[in-house]
Amino acid sequence: MEKIRMQTPLVEMDGDEMTRILWKLIKEELLWPFVELNTEYYDLGLENRNATDDRVTAEAAEATKKYKVAVKCATITPNAARVEEYGLKEMWKSPNGTIRAILDGTVFRVPIIVKGIEPYVKTWKKPITVARHAYGDVYKASEIRIPGPGKCELVFTGEDGREIRETVHEFREGGVAQGMHNLEGSVESFARSCFSYAVSQKQDLWFATKDTISKKYDHFFKDTFQEIYEKEYKEEFERLGITYFYTLIDDAVARVVKSEGGYIWACKNYDGDVMSDLIATAFGSLAMMTSVLVSPHGYFEYEAAHGTVQRHYYKHLKGEETSTNSIATIFAWSGALKKRGELDGNGDLVRFAQKLEEASLKTIESGKMTKDLALITTLPDPTVLSSGNFIREIRKTLEELLHAV
Ligand code: NAP
Ligand code: MG
Repeated sequence: MEKIRMQTPLVEMDGDEMTRILWKLIKEELLWPFVELNTEYYDLGLENRNATDDRVTAEAAEATKKYKVAVKCATITPNAARVEEYGLKEMWKSPNGTIRAILDGTVFRVPIIVKGIEPYVKTWKKPITVARHAYGDVYKASEIRIPGPGKCELVFTGEDGREIRETVHEFREGGVAQGMHNLEGSVESFARSCFSYAVSQKQDLWFATKDTISKKYDHFFKDTFQEIYEKEYKEEFERLGITYFYTLIDDAVARVVKSEGGYIWACKNYDGDVMSDLIATAFGSLAMMTSVLVSPHGYFEYEAAHGTVQRHYYKHLKGEETSTNSIATIFAWSGALKKRGELDGNGDLVRFAQKLEEASLKTIESGKMTKDLALITTLPDPTVLSSGNFIREIRKTLEELLHAV
């Protein structure tokens, strides 16, 4: 079989520990044999970030602006222990944080559905994507512990000296108070990322806040989404036959549980934090979840939702066998290849990426899986495979699928 060609490179960001081992195996077993892989490689492994004073992270993000599609391996976010372990010059910042600051955007997390790993909610047939706004609200709040009776006020002083004043509460006893904020630019780019992603996935978009109670703050989110929808996306949504749907957050929760899935659920920062963990767990496992950062300018960065699986890596270093689930990392690659193919009009590449996903799921459905899945599967007598053998089994299935065409 002739290898599939790629016209444009995608940005490849290598990472750390067990996921770096999986990364290499995935390329050797599942990509190189089938695709003339065209990537611009950036080594975001902690050693190279340290050697380049972390410039490599910013360079990789800049390259993503150029090529529009990136795939990223999980990376260590250094803490004090890592500074010592790797002899770091500095406690370098989170690479994900650096990349998000440069690309701007929203993180979309989608559970990977497979027969044998059943959602706890019986009605869920299709994945529910959580789109989480990643700026402001309670994560950037100021708080006061109110010591006793007194008046608490919210005061805005404009650069022109104009003052806006609002009483928070006339305290007759001690208590607590909090002030939080968000920004027009951030909410607008959140909205655009969600609408663009809905268009790219051809799925409905749900958005929910508590605007009946929060008549200015949450209402601002609601109005921003509505305005941007009508001005910039309504026509395209109608053309694709998808809908934008706004409701109250408590109503949304009830509808989500009764739904079949298959839509995108946009959440404010705090709601997204809580709901994405709920959705991931209710669908089965963190290793069965994809994650993509979508910028309002149309850049896509694909990654796994989990970390570098440090505990397994230390076992691997001691020469012990590991059974680490590579599905989320494989899907980061297939997601990036599919998007590259779509942008370049490269149908062969798109079809290959689809086959790769199909082969991964078929392998699990045939009872061959890693230990984390074997512990929760409803399939009888699953075969527990090592990290490497799981990937090699997927390769066998992939070859069968490709030959069947
Ligand atoms: P983790 O890598 O997500 O792993 C936590 C635990 O979850 C593992 O010990 C393992 O449980 C299970 N697990 C996660 N992924 C798995 C997989 N693919 N297959 C099987 N089991 C899996 O989190 P961590 O160990 O707390 O963090 C390690 C490093 O990752 C940290 O340095 C952190 O900074 C970094 N991190 C990076 C990212 C990112 O780049 N996106 C995200 C989060 C964390 P058992 O041990 O019980 O088998
Ligand atoms: Mg959380």
